[in-house]
Amino acid sequence: MENPFETLLNRPDGRTAEQLRPISIEAGIAPNATGSALIRFGNTQVICGACIEKKVPGWMQRQGVQGGWITAEYSMLPYSTHDRKDRDSSRGKVDGRSIEIQRLIGRALRAVVDLKKMPGYTLWIDCDVLQADGGTRTAAISGAYVAAQLAIGRLVKDGLLKESPFKDSVAAVSVGVYAGHPVLDLCYQEDKEASVDANIVMTGSGQFVELQSAGEEATFSQEQMDAMMSLAKNGITEITEIQKRAL
Ligand code: UDP
Repeated sequence: MENPFETLLNRPDGRTAEQLRPISIEAGIAPNATGSALIRFGNTQVICGACIEKKVPGWMQRQGVQGGWITAEYSMLPYSTHDRKDRDSSRGKVDGRSIEIQRLIGRALRAVVDLKKMPGYTLWIDCDVLQADGGTRTAAISGAYVAAQLAIGRLVKDGLLKESPFKDSVAAVSVGVYAGHPVLDLCYQEDKEASVDANIVMTGSGQFVELQSAGEEATFSQEQMDAMMSLAKNGITEITEIQKRAL
């Protein structure tokens, strides 16, 4: 029998299904980085720094690949989680989740950049989670774009690049099925209880870059998938506007 309570959506922070958490982006918070931003998705806070290096990875040199490169690193500060998380340097290894997330951030940025227009340069994007409350990877991608755009702007201004290699903007948001309802931008409590958890990366012009969706001990329907996509698209449109204002 269908559970009648399943039709009532009661999000922990009182949001409607299609509401993002309050999002803010503070640009230029790390003056020694070429570009930087502190992004907040509700209680999730990520520091994003972009630095330029006049060098490309060894594989590009060996294979004679023209252009530049963008790479990312992701880490959670020890006090970003409820229980202190040991630094990778103390544990002597980077956990698999961080590797997966940093590769996702790198791919998201590279998707909107013409790497040929930054010959000989590597843009390093460092994303450090200051406070984790769900959606750290989507906040990291959305903040990394702002930090990278600021860094590139500086290189163009300083005459190191002829023109900006950016073709589009990029942002990300999580969606999922919580208490039987498709919802946008899950906080940790929702993420923990969700039957479906998805991370959607899209460009400002509405193209998809990457979709990560998984049922957690559950399956999901085409209808739920369509509803999640529609929530994500609207969410990305809002985040894109916030990115524009920050820049
Ligand atoms: N989390 C945590 N410690 C960890 C990994 C995750 O406390 O080592 C929490 C954190 O709040 C994070 C959430 O679990 O935001 C969801 O993690 P997930 O792996 O789904 O990635 P995220 O949603 O942060 O992109």
